[in-house]
Amino acid sequence: MTSIKSENKVSTLTHFIGGAMVEGKSGRFGDVFNPSTGEVIGHVPLATKEEVVETIQKAQAAFPEWRKTSVAKRVEIIHRFRALLVEETDRLAELIGRESGKTIADAKGEISRGIESVDFALSAPQMLKGEYSVNVGGNINSFSVKQPLGVVTAIAPFNFPVMVPLAMTSMAVACGNSVILKPSERVPHSALFISELWQKAGLPAGVWSVINGDKEAVDELLSNPLVTAISFVGSTKVAEYIYHEGCRNNKRVAAFGGGKNHMIIMPDADVDQAVTAFLGAAFGAASQRCMAISAAIPVGEKTAERFTEKLKERVAELKVGPYHDEQMDFGPVITQQSKDLVLKYIEESLEDGAKLAFDGRNPEICQTEKGFFLGPTVLDHVTTDMKIYKEEVFGPARIVVRVSSLDEAIDMINDHELGNGVTIFTNNGAAARKFTEEIEVGMVGVNVPIPIPVGYHNFGGWKRSKFGEGHMFGPDTVRFFTKSKTVSERWPDADAIGQQTEFSFPSND
Ligand code: NAD
Repeated sequence: MTSIKSENKVSTLTHFIGGAMVEGKSGRFGDVFNPSTGEVIGHVPLATKEEVVETIQKAQAAFPEWRKTSVAKRVEIIHRFRALLVEETDRLAELIGRESGKTIADAKGEISRGIESVDFALSAPQMLKGEYSVNVGGNINSFSVKQPLGVVTAIAPFNFPVMVPLAMTSMAVACGNSVILKPSERVPHSALFISELWQKAGLPAGVWSVINGDKEAVDELLSNPLVTAISFVGSTKVAEYIYHEGCRNNKRVAAFGGGKNHMIIMPDADVDQAVTAFLGAAFGAASQRCMAISAAIPVGEKTAERFTEKLKERVAELKVGPYHDEQMDFGPVITQQSKDLVLKYIEESLEDGAKLAFDGRNPEICQTEKGFFLGPTVLDHVTTDMKIYKEEVFGPARIVVRVSSLDEAIDMINDHELGNGVTIFTNNGAAARKFTEEIEVGMVGVNVPIPIPVGYHNFGGWKRSKFGEGHMFGPDTVRFFTKSKTVSERWPDADAIGQQTEFSFPSND
């Protein structure tokens, strides 16, 4: 049995435990689809509590050796892993496209952004350097070091089968932890493929594991005393649950949730540029990105008219189709349920008074193909009381909310419960400055449609887009996956050791 079988056969997937592909024992399986054809392409085992415990124990057993391995040696393995990711980009992109529906070009973009996190992990020797102070008092030297936590876990979503797991785990491995990834049960092929690359790179058995599963597996990861930290990425409702459960069990938790990302278009903005930026950021990956722009906010009626007219023309040119067709701008959504949910949002918003600017509910491809396709839909005159405004919509239904001033736009965005990403399109520096200063959102763009930070800057939303203090990417990842220890030491001459017991609190004289 291998982790991934041939193209046409339905694969039976495994876990990756203790350095080997391990068959699932639960007898429970989830269907993995090819969203471009609607066909089942795999059966993913859903782990029992006992299988998770076994995975944790193997990870724990690998930890003492791994933490003792010099950081230079650890990074050497990560170097080889990085080279393999580059070498295998085509195969990996094909796996991503097949199980998630995103186009090959988009999958390759995701891999290269994932590699950025691996690159950042290569800076571990620099990032793990401690602090040292000489003679803080009485010939005492004091130093602080960052030490690994032990077994840490990453629970990942479906929409970035490679980039998000790499962002969550690369620095954790580099810092000397044993890592258990619980991928989304919708995209398990990519995670197992990554496991093969880690193995080829020479990572010791047990340092990296993949346990496939659903809530049963996650609940064991949340409560097992050997698990020290939980990094979660997924929907807000689940992120909140993970955060509360993890904290209740005294774990370190960073839980990243959903987004409702606005794009303000100021009256002075170049409308052509703004529409071009909106199209890619709003509809790329069939709008299944936590940083996708979901709402266009033109300021002033004239801007709104110019923007929506141009948008309608350009949306009509977008092409939706299977992941491997290079002509396509985006592919299908992940499941039939997901498609039905997006359609429901559209229909409810129309009942509530939104106006259909472009109808993508039944794209041509649906006449011939069984995949979970939805064309691009644009709803105009959406108001903030509508469900389609309030909630994250993970599919290609985008909205236009018209406002009369920048202040109104900022207040509206600040009132939204989600605060992942936001952007403004303008040529006015004062407006941009006011916006970046006052906006209550974690990742902010100015004339940048998707302001995802690069791998060496912190990534994370505000409000209900993130629970907990950790970040993905950047220096905060190092803080999240290590604990700090401060040592005070004195090495006096034997005959200089004082004989006097001190009862007063030590001062630094
Ligand atoms: P999801 O919340 O359904 O699933 C995420 C993970 O949680 C999966 O591994 C799943 O198995 C597990 N899970 C699901 N329900 C659970 C439950 N009740 N108890 C315990 N575990 C559970 O998310 P998804 O649909 O896979 O991914 C899309 C969501 O992820 C969107 O909301 C998107 O915005 C968000 N996302 C956020 C970021 C970010 O950085 N903020 C990045 C990518 C995706």
